[in-house]
Amino acid sequence: MNAITHSKTTGWRFDNTYARLSEALYARQNPVPVLEPKIVVFNHALAESLGLDARQLDGDHGAAVFSGNQLPENAEPLAQAYAGHQFGHFTMLGDGRAILLGEQITPEQKRFDVQLKGAGPTSFSRGGDGRAALGPMLREYIISEAMHFLGIPTTRSLAVVSTGEQVYRDTSLPGAILTRIAESHIRVGTFQYLAARGDIETLRAFTRYAMKRHDPELLEADNPYLAFLQSVMERQAVLVAKWQMVGFIHGVVNTDNMAISGETIDYGPCAFMDIYHPATVFSSIDRGGRYAYANQPPIAQWNLARFAETLLPLLSLLNEKQGQEEAQKMAENVILSFPEVFQRHWLNGMRAKLGLFTQESDDATLIERLLTWMSASQADYTNTFRALCSNTLNEKSFFQDEDFKAWYSLWQSRLARQPETPEKAFTLMRTHNPCVIPRNHRVEEALQAAAENNDLTVMENLLTVLKTPYADLPENNQYRLPPDPGGAAYQTFCGT
Ligand code: AMP
Ligand code: MG
Repeated sequence: MNAITHSKTTGWRFDNTYARLSEALYARQNPVPVLEPKIVVFNHALAESLGLDARQLDGDHGAAVFSGNQLPENAEPLAQAYAGHQFGHFTMLGDGRAILLGEQITPEQKRFDVQLKGAGPTSFSRGGDGRAALGPMLREYIISEAMHFLGIPTTRSLAVVSTGEQVYRDTSLPGAILTRIAESHIRVGTFQYLAARGDIETLRAFTRYAMKRHDPELLEADNPYLAFLQSVMERQAVLVAKWQMVGFIHGVVNTDNMAISGETIDYGPCAFMDIYHPATVFSSIDRGGRYAYANQPPIAQWNLARFAETLLPLLSLLNEKQGQEEAQKMAENVILSFPEVFQRHWLNGMRAKLGLFTQESDDATLIERLLTWMSASQADYTNTFRALCSNTLNEKSFFQDEDFKAWYSLWQSRLARQPETPEKAFTLMRTHNPCVIPRNHRVEEALQAAAENNDLTVMENLLTVLKTPYADLPENNQYRLPPDPGGAAYQTFCGT
């Protein structure tokens, strides 16, 4: 590794390993300066955890840095190459509007990518303008931070800067740049890109690089590439189980939007469910429901199969006796085990949501029965689970429904069969069932105030509430209310 220079003033400490990789993997590209950058929101706590001096960066200097107008010391800006299956169709892509500044080494010696999203066109822009609008960048900031505080692996948001320029989508919108922080931006699509080029030696070197960043201990495994596949698969199973647990719908789980770090990445047309229904879709472009709530686990498995395909040449070359067929078999076994691994994580998470410490063979049925009732009764997903932790189910609500009462008594008997006290069960439930999620109507209200009326207070209040999603604070009660039932069905748009 090169000597790392530490910027004494603001704390930048870059060690850019990606920029040392084969040039097939990226195109060097400086951000294109913008007219009049201003900080709209800045994440002090995240900045400090990265070893940055938040006070120095929250102002004109930070605006210059987080817009790309001024490069931090030792930044080596580049746009990453990748491919991806978008709604099932393979395409060569790459960062069309994102620029990686470098890898920041934190005081704890952790490595994080620092990327500007919306920093201008690159050689991968395919006719796009390389820019982003303020609303969608603030939306990514709010939802990614909410995910973090809910305990879900995710890229983080360090800052949103307005550019003083307009971007044109269907209409003219204020432009903005988001600074995204990630363990890495290596995607399933990055492997697909290398595999499509057919250069196995670069693919092998890159796979070892990715392992060094995310699974260094597996480099010593008997079959490192198989162990890596297994590890990436498990991280996705954990991640998607966590999405399901809080009712999060990503919206565009294309292979280019699946990070091998297991972080949720690329907040486009995503949203949290209010009323529980497994077929819920928010994205206006997802007409077939490919990325509907209930499809997220099988789609993750489908994406992982695409990932496994890219590793096949490595699996078979590992040992001369292992031919193509054997490699295929090994990869298949890992992919076929996904539903079981997912189910295990899902079931354990759902048990915690219901206060269950022990395991019984009928637990999945008990959970499914509740979900079926929720779907039939149009129950609010988040509020139903949280109501179960209160021990005082609202007398007036539909919890008086006979079907619910039947389920409730099954659940009570199940709780009674475990040694833990009801208090312990409630405590467990209160740490797995959030009171507040970033509800769509709340997020929209915050974005509208910010982007249309220059009023940031609505968003700031929402961000504060979302920092303690599991705390039962009476002052946050309004954030727990579902949207007005008369309101139009919520849709998110891809014009991000
Ligand atoms: P996404 O749907 O955000 O994952 O983006 C898919 C691909 O389109 C990625 O390669 C992006 O970099 C690219 N892209 C999205 N928006 C733009 C834009 N405004 N200009 C150029 N490229 C873009
Ligand atoms: Mg993407």
